[in-house]
Amino acid sequence: MKSESQAAHKQLPAVDRVLRAPEIVDLAEEHGRQAVTAWVRQVLGEMRIDDGDGFGTSREQTVRKVIERVLAVGERHNLNRMRPVINATGVVLHTNLGRAPLANAAKQAICDAVGCMNLEINLVDGRRGSRGSSIEELLTQLTGADAALVVNNCAAATLLALRTFATGRQVIISRGQLIEIGGSYRLPNIFIEAGAILAEVGTTNRTRLADYAAAITSETAAILRVHSSNYRIIGFTESASIGELAELARAHGLLAIDDVGSGSLYDLSPLGLTGEPIVPESLRAGADLVLFSGDKLLGGPQCGVIVGRQPLIDRLRGEPLARALRVDKLTLAALEATLLIHCRGRAFEDVPVLRQLAMHPNEIRERCEKLVHRLATDRRATAISFSVKAVESAVGGGALAGQGLPSFAICARSANIEQTARDLRLGSPSILVRTSEGTVLLDLRTVHSDDDEAVLKRLERLAAQSDCGPAAVHDDERVA
Ligand SMILES: *Cc1c(COP(=O)(O)O)cnc(C)c1O
Repeated sequence: MKSESQAAHKQLPAVDRVLRAPEIVDLAEEHGRQAVTAWVRQVLGEMRIDDGDGFGTSREQTVRKVIERVLAVGERHNLNRMRPVINATGVVLHTNLGRAPLANAAKQAICDAVGCMNLEINLVDGRRGSRGSSIEELLTQLTGADAALVVNNCAAATLLALRTFATGRQVIISRGQLIEIGGSYRLPNIFIEAGAILAEVGTTNRTRLADYAAAITSETAAILRVHSSNYRIIGFTESASIGELAELARAHGLLAIDDVGSGSLYDLSPLGLTGEPIVPESLRAGADLVLFSGDKLLGGPQCGVIVGRQPLIDRLRGEPLARALRVDKLTLAALEATLLIHCRGRAFEDVPVLRQLAMHPNEIRERCEKLVHRLATDRRATAISFSVKAVESAVGGGALAGQGLPSFAICARSANIEQTARDLRLGSPSILVRTSEGTVLLDLRTVHSDDDEAVLKRLERLAAQSDCGPAAVHDDERVA
C-alpha cells in the first residue's frame, strides 16, 4: 500500500509545471498569479497527504487532475465575489441581498457619474459649488423640510445628530424604543459613541408623555423617538406621539429628534401596510430633525437622510464628523435619480421597492401560472414537480415588521429541497428562494418580470438534471 502511494506521489508535478498549463495561465490572469500559486500549492499539498486516490494512472493524467482541482478552487472563489442574484424570497427589502434594488434611472445615473462629473462645481458660473446641494433641494421639496443633509446611513445620521447636539448631555428615550437593527446597530452603543447620556423612561410596553416630562432636567438636550422598525409591541401598550413629544420639547427648549428608520414619504395603508411613520407628517407634527435610511422605503442607495430646521442642519453640516460620514458621488447620483422619480409622482411605477409593494397578487399569480404551465408542457414532470401556491411576502429590511402581503409563488417539490435550494443558489444566475413545509418557494413579487425567463430556464435545467441524477458540479460540495 505504502509503496504504491509513494509511487503515486512521485507523479505529482512541480508547482511551475502546473502554473504553465494554459488554463492555469488564464486563471492567473483572472485572479492574480500570487493567489493561483497558493491554490496550486494547496492542491498539491492536499494530494500529497491523500493515499493516492484521485491520482491518474499516468503522470499526464495526474497533472490533469491537479489542474481540475485548482480550477475548482477558482470556481469557489468566483462564487464568493460580488455578483447579481435573483431575489425570489418574497422579502422586498432583503438586507443580505443589498436592501433596495435601484430604479433603472438610478442605475444609469451611477454609470454616468463614474467618470468626471460636476460634483462640487457650479456649471453656470464655473465656481466651486457645494456637493449634494441639488439633492438637498429635492429632499426639502419631497418632505416639506427647510433643509436636508445626506450621510452614509441612518446609523451615521443618529450618531451625527447626538454628537452635535447632545455630547455630555441627556437624551430622553422610551424603554420600548431601544432598538437593535441587524449589522450590530444597537442604539445604546450609538449613544456611547456620541458621548450622549441615555435617559430611559417608561417601560417596555408603556411610556406616557408624563414619563418624558418627569425626566427633563437642566442636563437634557433632546427627546428622541425611534420607530420600532423590526419588531412590534402589541397588547397592553401606550406611547407618546411625535406631535406630543415635539410640543413638550419646545416648551422646555429641547430638540425633538425622530428616527423614523424606513423613511416612507407616503401613507402605505392603501396597500394594507400600516403603522409606518411618514416623513412629511413627522415634520408637520413638529419634529426638529427627522432621520431615515435611503435604501429602505425610499428605494434608493444606502445613505442616511437628515431633514429638518435650517439652523440645525447647518450646524450638522459644519461638524468634522459630517465630513467623515459623507457619501460618494455614485451614491449621490443614484439618490438624485431616485428622488426625481418621487418628485415626478412615478414612485409606485418606477421605484422597484414601491412597485413590488404595490403589485397586485393577481398579477403575481398570472406570472407564476404562466411559468408553471410552461414547465409542465416542456417536460414530463418527474423528479421535481411544480405548482402555484398562495404565500405571503414580507417587507423586510426592518420595515413594517409582522405585516405580510398576499402573494403567489412557484412551489417546487423534490426529494431533497435543501439541495434544490442550494442548486438554485449556486447556479447561474443565482436564485435565492424560501423553503417551507418540504417545498421550495419562489415568490415572484420580488423578481423583476424581466427575469421570469431566466427563472424558467434555471428551473427547467434543474428539473432535467434531477431526472438524470444529481448535478455533477455539486458532488464535491455535498461531501464537504
Ligand atoms: C434601519 C434603521 C436604522 C439603521 O439604518 P441604517 O441606514 O441601516 O444605518 C436606524 N433606525 C431605525 C429606526 C431603522 O429602522
